[in-house]
Amino acid sequence: MLLKKSSNFGEKNDVCYLNGKVKFQGVALNVYSYVVDGVLIDTGAQSLRKHFETFIEQADFDQVMITHFHEDHTGCAAYIEKTKKLPIYIDEKTIDYCAQRADYPFYRQLFWGRRKPFHAQVMPETFTSRNATWDVIDTPGHAYDHKAFLNRQTGQLFTGDLYVNEKTRVILEEESVPTIIQSLERVLTYDFHEVFCNHKGFVEDGRIALERKLNNLLALQQDVLTLQQQGNPATEIRSKLFPRKYPITRFSGGEWDSIHIVTSIMKGL
Ligand SMILES: [Zn+2]
Repeated sequence: MLLKKSSNFGEKNDVCYLNGKVKFQGVALNVYSYVVDGVLIDTGAQSLRKHFETFIEQADFDQVMITHFHEDHTGCAAYIEKTKKLPIYIDEKTIDYCAQRADYPFYRQLFWGRRKPFHAQVMPETFTSRNATWDVIDTPGHAYDHKAFLNRQTGQLFTGDLYVNEKTRVILEEESVPTIIQSLERVLTYDFHEVFCNHKGFVEDGRIALERKLNNLLALQQDVLTLQQQGNPATEIRSKLFPRKYPITRFSGGEWDSIHIVTSIMKGL
């Protein structure tokens, strides 16, 4: 099994980042980790540990904030716990899950490796770093424990997996489009100037990009509900709105599929 791994390091407006990439049979995935003002935001994937551990070794930080429990964000948290003894924070709901052996489908273990157990503390509602106060913003939908972090001093917003891309075509089975819509509406009530996404990196014109994503999802929601009112079942709505099959759907055995967009909208909040 040939897994191609690479990474690139950089800095954007005082935010250091590592972008780790994994490629397997034409499916390419990537994930970012950020360091800003002594805060490490997300820890990368265990499969890319050589890249992320070097980044972690060289980075200057004294606390770790994790946006959500998924293994591409928590993969090197155990390494930090072992080598640095610094506090790691995650939403209260997933502390116990993260302290146990990871349990997720094989294709995710292939891409992201096996996340080792780690011990986190309860994410506060606000926190301070060396020069700033931060808001922790509840943004569930992609994951039920998902948070975004806003540096009040710089207006930099770290959105985890809330954004990722503007047009949503496939989501995980456990995701909910109506909940993501609510979360986008919530972050947009805050005063921020820049957006850093864990898969897209720095997002140009971040606020406008988040607004576009919100508007796309609202339009999609409307389309699904209209087709539902016309009596179409979920599978029919999917073929009408998402005629393409994406490689990740095949790869994941349907864990990532457009059908979950449709069913989560039909189910509502
Ligand atoms: Zn995620």
